[in-house]
Amino acid sequence: PARLKSTLALVTGGGSGIGRAVCQRLAQEGASVAVVDLSIDSANDTLRRLARDAPGQDHVALAADVSRSESVRALMEQIQSRFLAPPRVAVNSAGITRDEFLLRLSEEAFDSVLNVNLKGTFLITQAVAQSIVTSGQDGGSIINMGSIVGKVGNLGQGNYAASKAGVEGLTKTAAKELAKFGICCNTILPGFIATPMTEKVPQKVLDKFAGMIPLGRLGRPEDVADVCAFLATEDSKYITGASIEVTGGLFL
Ligand code: NAD
Repeated sequence: PARLKSTLALVTGGGSGIGRAVCQRLAQEGASVAVVDLSIDSANDTLRRLARDAPGQDHVALAADVSRSESVRALMEQIQSRFLAPPRVAVNSAGITRDEFLLRLSEEAFDSVLNVNLKGTFLITQAVAQSIVTSGQDGGSIINMGSIVGKVGNLGQGNYAASKAGVEGLTKTAAKELAKFGICCNTILPGFIATPMTEKVPQKVLDKFAGMIPLGRLGRPEDVADVCAFLATEDSKYITGASIEVTGGLFL
């Protein structure tokens, strides 16, 4: 079903993993997708897949660093001049890890993870909401990637857990403030999803996690993308400020 026909969707981190699967899933629903990534090569790679699988829709690949306000401003200008309309769906999937145990965690590793995961989500959420409000036509869906780690913590991920707990608080506040503009804001809390981000995790640890997951397997990017499609469409119109775990039941 083309539930997102003539909808423009902006997806950060669209060049890899979950973000790429989200781009493909939203395009499948009929959306035009602005694939945003720090790496223009990765974004273009996703764009080629969209052109192959969802031709006839106007997709674009754009480079931006979500952690820098000048870069986010330039990104929004490019989108406005190309589509002459604001994105109605925004998915914040850009994210990084810099794992270190707390006793050794450097200030630099703390700041860089908070800057991309939390500040980047803030800058894009604010910019997209501003563009919707300025257009004078209410309505939209902002979907932010938190993590189950933001709720339960994880060894070596103090910076990451803090950033993801922050994303949840930010998103709930955005839900309250932006409801009057018809903009719904929700957080997805993925569990353990097999992507380039989790590729570095040793097989022993992967097996351990898989054994702890009631549904009996690690997640796939498509598992998250399906929930994202739901949150992007009218099917979820009465849901805002929610945090939806997509974990296969991990840490219930
Ligand atoms: P990934 O590493 O495959 O993809 C992340 C993408 O973000 C990359 O293409 C990268 O270039 C881009 N990116 C990094 N910094 C950026 C910046 N400053 N500006 C713009 N783009 C930037 O990771 P993934 O596994 O697909 O994760 C996507 C999101 O889901 C992240 O926010 C991650 O924290 C979250 N998440 C992932 C898992 C998991 O198990 N994979 C679990 C919970 C949450």
